Amino acid sequence: MYRRIMLAVDGSTPAALALKEAIKLGKALSCEVHLVHVIDDAGAADDVGYFAPAAANQKLLDAGRDYLQRAAAELATAGVAHSERLIEEPFAPGGIAITIDQAAREASVDIIVMGTHGRRGVRRLLMGSVAEGVLRLSRVPVLLVQGEDDGPAFSLRRSSQA
Ligand code: AMP
Repeated sequence: MYRRIMLAVDGSTPAALALKEAIKLGKALSCEVHLVHVIDDAGAADDVGYFAPAAANQKLLDAGRDYLQRAAAELATAGVAHSERLIEEPFAPGGIAITIDQAAREASVDIIVMGTHGRRGVRRLLMGSVAEGVLRLSRVPVLLVQGEDDGPAFSLRRSSQA
């Protein structure tokens, strides 16, 4: 059975729903949940670009740590063993899916749990799907939990306008 589950977190509603499933699996199987967040360098360029890349990077790092800490706190409350990894830049430029798959291999996980927004049509063409990318690359099963796309809990754009 599964001994180690990877949960990919990005602060979104689907990832929060995926956390609930990881907690169920972790409790039922008494296995460890390995949390991973990849700093999305493409997001920094979109939001502030040349203007303040260092500040943008710090905000992304802070947000990433926050996503991991919040998920870790829920796992601790549920009594599920866990570990965390913040990957400060994708292993390939813009390659979040490649990085999640590589991290899963390095951590020797037995299954990957993720959210997905279930985008359709043009949005999917433009934005792609991290979950679909992982599904194509992964050597272990991938559990996808679909949720509404209401945007990330953290936004550089929103916080810089505040
Ligand atoms: P999709 O909606 O198909 O693009 O997949 C979104 C899911 O991919 C999220 O719910 C997370 O599980 C995962 N994900 C997306 N971005 C990241 C990231 N930067 N770090 C870790 N996991 C991520």
